[in-house]
Amino acid sequence: MRVFIAMLSHETNTFSTIATDRRQFETRELRYGGEILEAYRGTGTCLGGMIDGASARGLALLPSLAAGASPAGRVTRSFYEDAKTRICADLRAAGTLDGVLLDLHGAMVVEGADDGEGDLLRAVREVVGATVPVGVTLDFHANVTEDMVRHATLLHGYKTYPHVDMAERGLEAAHRLADIAAGTLRPTIAFRQPRLLPPIAGQLTSRGPMRRLYDLADEMERDPRVITVSIFAGFPLADIHDAGLSIYVATKDDPALAAALADRLEAVAWEHRHEFLHHAVPVAEAVAQALRAGKRPVVLADIADNTGGGAAGDGTEILRELLRVNAPSATVACLWDPEAAAACTKAGVGATVSLDVGGKIDGNHGAPVAITGRVAALSDGNFIHKGPMMRGLPGRLGPTAVLASGGVKVILISHRWQTLDPEMIRITGIEPLDEQIVVVKSSIHYRAAFEALAASIIEVDAPGLSSSNLDRFTFTRVRRPIFPLDPI
Ligand SMILES: [Zn+2]
Repeated sequence: MRVFIAMLSHETNTFSTIATDRRQFETRELRYGGEILEAYRGTGTCLGGMIDGASARGLALLPSLAAGASPAGRVTRSFYEDAKTRICADLRAAGTLDGVLLDLHGAMVVEGADDGEGDLLRAVREVVGATVPVGVTLDFHANVTEDMVRHATLLHGYKTYPHVDMAERGLEAAHRLADIAAGTLRPTIAFRQPRLLPPIAGQLTSRGPMRRLYDLADEMERDPRVITVSIFAGFPLADIHDAGLSIYVATKDDPALAAALADRLEAVAWEHRHEFLHHAVPVAEAVAQALRAGKRPVVLADIADNTGGGAAGDGTEILRELLRVNAPSATVACLWDPEAAAACTKAGVGATVSLDVGGKIDGNHGAPVAITGRVAALSDGNFIHKGPMMRGLPGRLGPTAVLASGGVKVILISHRWQTLDPEMIRITGIEPLDEQIVVVKSSIHYRAAFEALAASIIEVDAPGLSSSNLDRFTFTRVRRPIFPLDPI
């Protein structure tokens, strides 16, 4: 069987002023053709799982484009149109196909098009026609729309947050696509969009309402008539009509069963909606608590400055407090400030520099902090993910520097990257286990690798565009009423 494969992935925070243009994709991920298979084979990613599944089922893969950028503002129209044109041209050139596998995010917002993936899937469907199966993996944070459901044959959402099942979902997508192409599987779908916009910090799947929903979904999937159940928590910081939680149930040629299961999940999600609300600890209180803790390291999660949720990654409020109280042993990882990283690199290890650090992108992540400190280490910023997420995949932080002032060290990076793997700290020579306080800029993903090494974790309520306090944002496009923005 001949199967087309491509990836276009972006989580768009519509409150961000950073435009996601071609350069943002080039910095993170932009590959074409055969090199895609080489780069992703064996990695803990959807493409990695799809490639494994394809070889298990004897599918010949025709790779097109793999593009991904760090979450930020809307994807520029010109980059999106280039990517869509490329995918559609490759589809036409591929000739007769038995199937299409796409690794998409589901919360991509393009300039002038709120439903990026819906638009792309419509275009793909137009090229391949109604009968060729299109299997799609989507992020747990997908804001799924009717168009995505209509134009894809089968959607597979990640079932974990932190996302540790990407390869598993990719593998599953390849197997199910092979079954559909062989005519042995006929999916029937039910889709529900309750009026729920869960904040990010309330979405983790190890406990709380998402665990409850996935326990129920796991039970449903044990029924041999059920193909897959995905519960998308949604990405609340995309102010679009369809933002929020959604439920997708696929059964084997049994639409009534799909509808009944989807209704049940929708009722449970609604009944437990208040459990999604989340309260983080104010900055000064969080730092004081961490300093009092007996065991190290205490991980302070800067949940509102998560680049993985479209925040700038240059938030300064926790750093400012650590300097104010002269914390004896603290590392802030990792703060995006290419200018400051370049100044440290130029000065060299051991030099003393005076710099304004962070707070430069917009007014939402605190003002710059003036630091006079010593350049303690420099790195090229290249690392390999060694934690449970994206294991084996290379990461590039760009020129990286450690600036130390007393016991406070800040890791300055040149490419925006969520602090989700301790390797991002270790490449600078700092051992997180030796620190009293480790600040990570991440909402939930850091938990996959940092829970195992943290003595304790405190979620901090600093300012930023990935805050779970949705009252801080002005929504104008999301459908209303919706919980928790409205008292329903
Ligand atoms: Zn996600």
